[in-house]
Amino acid sequence: MAVTETKSTCCYCGVGCGVIIEAEAGKITGVRGDPDHPANFGRLCTKGSTLHLTAKPDARALFPELRRNRGELRQRASWDEALDHVAERFASIIREHGPDAVAFYISGQLLTEDYYVFNKLAKGLIGTNNVDTNSRLCMSSAVAGYKTTLGADAPPACYEDIDHTRCLFIAGSNTAYAHPILYRRIEDARAKNPDLKIVVVDPRRTDTAEAADLHLPILPGTDVALFNGMLHLMLWEGLLDTRYIQAHTTGFDALKNTVREYTPKMVADICGIKEADLMTAAQWFGTGPTLSMYCQGLNQSTSGTDKNAALINLHLATGQIGKPGTGPLSLTGQPNAMGGREVGGMATLLSGHRDLANAGHRAEVARLWGIASVPERPGKTAVEMFNGLRDGSIKAVWIACTNPAQSMPDLNSVRDALGKAELVVLQEAYHDTETTEFADVLLPATTWGEKEGTVTNSERRVTHVRPALAAPAEARADWQIAVDFAHRLGALLEQAPVAEKLFPYTQAEQVFNEHRETTRGRDLDITGLSYALLDAQGPQQWPFPAGASTGKPRLYTDGVFEQEDGKARFANTLYRATAEKTDARHPLHLNSGRLRDQWHGMSRTGTVAQLFNHVEEPAILMHANDMQRRSIHHGDLVKVSNKRGTLILPAHNSADMAPAQTFIPMHWGSQYMSGLGVNALMPSAFDRASKQPELKHAAVKVEKIDLP
Ligand code: SF4
Repeated sequence: MAVTETKSTCCYCGVGCGVIIEAEAGKITGVRGDPDHPANFGRLCTKGSTLHLTAKPDARALFPELRRNRGELRQRASWDEALDHVAERFASIIREHGPDAVAFYISGQLLTEDYYVFNKLAKGLIGTNNVDTNSRLCMSSAVAGYKTTLGADAPPACYEDIDHTRCLFIAGSNTAYAHPILYRRIEDARAKNPDLKIVVVDPRRTDTAEAADLHLPILPGTDVALFNGMLHLMLWEGLLDTRYIQAHTTGFDALKNTVREYTPKMVADICGIKEADLMTAAQWFGTGPTLSMYCQGLNQSTSGTDKNAALINLHLATGQIGKPGTGPLSLTGQPNAMGGREVGGMATLLSGHRDLANAGHRAEVARLWGIASVPERPGKTAVEMFNGLRDGSIKAVWIACTNPAQSMPDLNSVRDALGKAELVVLQEAYHDTETTEFADVLLPATTWGEKEGTVTNSERRVTHVRPALAAPAEARADWQIAVDFAHRLGALLEQAPVAEKLFPYTQAEQVFNEHRETTRGRDLDITGLSYALLDAQGPQQWPFPAGASTGKPRLYTDGVFEQEDGKARFANTLYRATAEKTDARHPLHLNSGRLRDQWHGMSRTGTVAQLFNHVEEPAILMHANDMQRRSIHHGDLVKVSNKRGTLILPAHNSADMAPAQTFIPMHWGSQYMSGLGVNALMPSAFDRASKQPELKHAAVKVEKIDLP
């Protein structure tokens, strides 16, 4: 039997590395980096290079399953039975309670085409904006930060800028673990350029921080104070580009008045760092050229939008944007969070980077879709959606390709909400996630290596991914499941012709072509792209309008921004503390994040033995003094708790941790002997603008468990 080779992308992080999948006799037998892919040039990290080992049929959901009554076990069903049941229940709930009584919670791991169809299903056919995604937990503060300042959700820089920069400012990102191939590019740049300075802002001394020229171990949540303090110093040191500020921005005077208050002494006290280090960071950043990279440490915060905007303020004030080696570059956590943003697959967005709150944008999308109107009522974002299930205002939820019973904050509340829902539909590739137990209907979906569509990585690069194998058993492509459901629901709601018109697709490419048309004339215009062009010329960055021969590596090179007046807007950012404060009962800060060799809830990586060689088991990392004070020794079992939950796990002494700070990796869930995972302890408080929850900080107590 011949070995086939198929070009695709790695399905883990937002670096978006190209892979070549090797398959033989209906099985994926190997994977290697695609040397032609501009994101990785053939390299893969430990996760990517073991992807073929995750293709395990026994872990897969292969057939639809259905239970008609709570308390019963789900039974295998045909696709017709399962989808008819779901359509009847959705139609009945919509008729009785209105369209906002149903909701869709989808995923940054879906392909752009899947995302597009789900968004159109909710907003175009059903008439609800209750469609949100786990990208709300990941990137929505970056979206809000870009839009507030630059006017559009478009990362202006690219990976190549790493080779041109002289100051790499990494904030809230353990790039070495979370985006490993990008980090190798940083290591290469450093080897080539001895003048390159790397600054890392992180409460933990991560591997990324350890290798930096300057580590700023700020106290949790104090990033805005840090960035405002840097701007204060840049003003004093004459490091600002006043001509750029005058020509291309608005709002600087108000910000200048604000940052006058952020004196070095005050900022050093708030952030818990040395004034001299603050000065060094300001000088390196201000001298430039400076490229900043940032991720969940900024985003997963009740000040997430301000943290993003305050960092972008520094780029605008120094004119370091739209030029080689400069600019803010948010790193997307998931492989296609960017694609989801492009199609407006969130409760607050519409197709083609349009806003739901904008009446003109709603009218444009209605015209593009051929419907009377897009509903104006705001949809529920992730936390609000599960609150809605708990209070009964939302009766049915359709979850696709994500595991909220492990990944949401305040997990006990989320599990309570799922238990109260009248109907939980779960569209999944894997049989046993923490969410599966709540599913009344399980719809088996295809996954990596079996799907066709597109993804967009952190540098706006679109790649055509292709299937190496046919779908196993009865699994179907995510977009196909949504289309099949839409036709059934349309018939039950006496809108069959509308459903036929809205969802005519039989191929993923038809969905892509329609999505492409919604971008015409917008900042992300991809009307020049097609599957054929992506196949012939390789992955491309947007914008790529009709007639273009190449995409744009950098945006705003002419100093014209996407705000109405063409000028970028300084955000007048003020420091606010974390939602939860430590106190005498809960005196320790809890942080969470990724390990190098695991991914999310470990549905894939947890099945590969060698990926446990790096870290075998979950543990809470603590400072030696905090352990000593509690008579805890390295490896002792401890109880970590607050009002939301309790976890029992070993404590490890770690030199990475500052006093009073602790860290638990995010990957383990129901595998714990006791507890649901670290997110059970995290608050559901969220940023006012981005609605992104504060998954990076809670106050906890840690107690030694005395074993008999
Ligand atoms: Fe996959 Fe990210 Fe590793 Fe690249 S860096 S191989 S995209 S996990």
